[in-house]
Amino acid sequence: MTQLGSAASDPSSFASKATKGGAGDSRTGKAFTPAGKKKIDAANATKNDGINKCENCGIEVVPGQKSQSGVSPPTNQRERDHVIPKSKGGEGTPENGQVLCRECNLEKSNKAP
Ligand SMILES: [Zn+2]
Repeated sequence: MTQLGSAASDPSSFASKATKGGAGDSRTGKAFTPAGKKKIDAANATKNDGINKCENCGIEVVPGQKSQSGVSPPTNQRERDHVIPKSKGGEGTPENGQVLCRECNLEKSNKAP
C-alpha cells in the first residue's frame, strides 16, 4: 500500500513554470550584478594566466578605484561590457559579459548607434 507522490506533487509541471520564459526574472537589458562581474573577471583571468586583459586590445587592466573628484581613471581601468548591447536585448548575465579596458569601452559606446 504505497501511494507516495502521485497526483499531489508533480514537480515537472511546477518547475517548467518557474524557470523558462519568466519575464519577471529575466536580466534582459539589465546591468551586471556584482556576482556576475566577478564571474566575468574570473572567466577572463582563466584565459589570461590569472590576470585580466582587455578582450579588444589585449592590454592588462587594473581594478576600478573609488571615484575621486579631480582624478580621472586610468585608460586601462577594468570595465565590463555587454557583448550584445542592452539596447539590443542583451542580458546582464556573465555569459553576455566581457572585460574591456576603459579606453575600448568608451570607444565602443561612441560607435554605438
Ligand atoms: Zn582595450
